[in-house]
Amino acid sequence: MIPEPYNKIIKKNAHLLSSITDDHLSRYFEECFNGIAEELGLFACWICVKCMVKNILSYGWGERPSVCPRCGNHSNYMVGTYQAWASKTGDAFEWAFYYLMTEKMGIPLIKSRAASETNDFEVRGKIGIEAKGSATYIKNPDGSVYSLGRAGMLRSDTKKKAFSNAKEFKRKKLGLYFYIVTNAMPDELIGYKDRDIDGIFDVTKKNQLEKLVTELNSKRTRNSPLFP
Ligand SMILES: [Zn+2]
Repeated sequence: MIPEPYNKIIKKNAHLLSSITDDHLSRYFEECFNGIAEELGLFACWICVKCMVKNILSYGWGERPSVCPRCGNHSNYMVGTYQAWASKTGDAFEWAFYYLMTEKMGIPLIKSRAASETNDFEVRGKIGIEAKGSATYIKNPDGSVYSLGRAGMLRSDTKKKAFSNAKEFKRKKLGLYFYIVTNAMPDELIGYKDRDIDGIFDVTKKNQLEKLVTELNSKRTRNSPLFP
């Protein structure tokens, strides 16, 4: 069910979930992010194009220097791997979360059909879950760490999207529950609820993960007149 290469990366790091602690949860998600970066070569690097024209290779890991150290021109550019950082580590977060919930927490998550744009997962047609997680850094092959800035629900555009998805979900699916899960969020979203959102949880924190599981278990077994 989990597509490759995510499946093999998750299986490689699943041992971290043998006991659930804050430290193990954080490391599990981080190692899944690092795994997909390694698998797809999503490293932060630059290359000088003018040197390349002369068949000289001038390149390096991390942020580009202000001028090319070989030719002194401003023709060195970042390689566009950043286009993939958010989306690929976002997918890694989704599948790592899916594995955690189905294999370790006993929650029967179902991946939503591709057509659904409001929620990544469902539970028994009663609950929608939107996963908004991403890496905070990229580890380069030379050991340097390249910071990606704000991750998950700490990004204002991601938060905005998640809140608008919640609104749309509730409009289309009357009486259903909607949750957001992430690996990073501001403190003011702990315990947050409104008309559209039934809860937001940082699943790298043991106490929040347990609250989510309790919440999902109580909702999925509750029969409502609308969804018996
Ligand atoms: Zn150059």
